[in-house]
Amino acid sequence: MYPFELHRPASIADAAALLAKTGGKALAGGQSLVAAMKLRLAQPGHVVDLSGLAELKGIRREGDAVSIGAMSRHADIASSDVVKGAIPALAALAEGIGDRQVRNVGTIGGSLANNDPAADWPAAVLGLNATVHTNKRKVPADEYFRGMYETALADDEIIVSVSFPVPKKAAYAKFPNPASRFALVGVFVALSGPGVRVAVTGAASSVFRCKPLEDALARSFTAAAAKAVKVDAAGLNADLHGSPAYRAHLVSVMAARAVTSAG
Ligand SMILES: Cc1cc2nc3c(=O)[nH]c(=O)nc-3n(C[C@H](O)[C@H](O)[C@H](O)COP(=O)(O)OP(=O)(O)OC[C@H]3O[C@@H](n4cnc5c(N)ncnc54)[C@H](O)[C@@H]3O)c2cc1C
Repeated sequence: MYPFELHRPASIADAAALLAKTGGKALAGGQSLVAAMKLRLAQPGHVVDLSGLAELKGIRREGDAVSIGAMSRHADIASSDVVKGAIPALAALAEGIGDRQVRNVGTIGGSLANNDPAADWPAAVLGLNATVHTNKRKVPADEYFRGMYETALADDEIIVSVSFPVPKKAAYAKFPNPASRFALVGVFVALSGPGVRVAVTGAASSVFRCKPLEDALARSFTAAAAKAVKVDAAGLNADLHGSPAYRAHLVSVMAARAVTSAG
């Protein structure tokens, strides 16, 4: 590891000012950032530790939504009674991330800022039409994800919390990579007042909504309807784990499983 300066700000305003002044990187659990620094893929001269900021913590019900602080660890969300009561699909998704060690360190804010193409949280945020609250603004899910490891966040912008509207029904199904537990394909399905949303992670360079599945499930919210959709393989990932055609097939299969779990 090369030398860098570590800052421990006491407020979001101080953290944002430090990021703007130094051009450094925010640190949540360090699961992605520290690994990238060790590999010299990231070489920030300044690292701004967010762990002391109480404003980034906490999970609460706020009217028709559940608000989850950015520094909530996956394990906090998996075990939260508020989440389990209002949107059990989020608790189940969190429980399926990595392994126990990963869930006890990784955070929802770090995952969303990182926007790994195979991460689980982006599917929940896009599928539930959540809103990402930053220190500067509120970003709707449809405007937040910009591509592989790219988001709408500015370099000195900090995710404070994520607000998830409570759906009528929702579930997430993932086909995990057996080594990393990241999603080879993960599908989040949500039925709510405005309609059906289906978000897919792992299959392409970034999370995306699958319109043919949304249309089919709006007509009939059944596993059979999901399975009958032939997803277009064009543009999907091809690697040693699976071809585009394999991933396209998995999208329908995972959507059908999610609909079954949603009940
Ligand atoms: C072995 C392993 C297995 C994993 N398996 C899975 C899996 O199955 N599914 C899955 O979804 N993920 C998985 N992960 C990812 C992991 O759970 C973390 O969510 C992810 O690595 C981000 O880590 P972090 O929260 O520690 O953030 P960090 O590594 O600290 O930060 C990541 C990036 O986000 C930025 N950042 C952090 N917090 C904020 C904030 N509040 N505002 C703005 N920017 C911020 C940082 O500057 C950095 O650029 C796995 C990781 C490992 C190491």
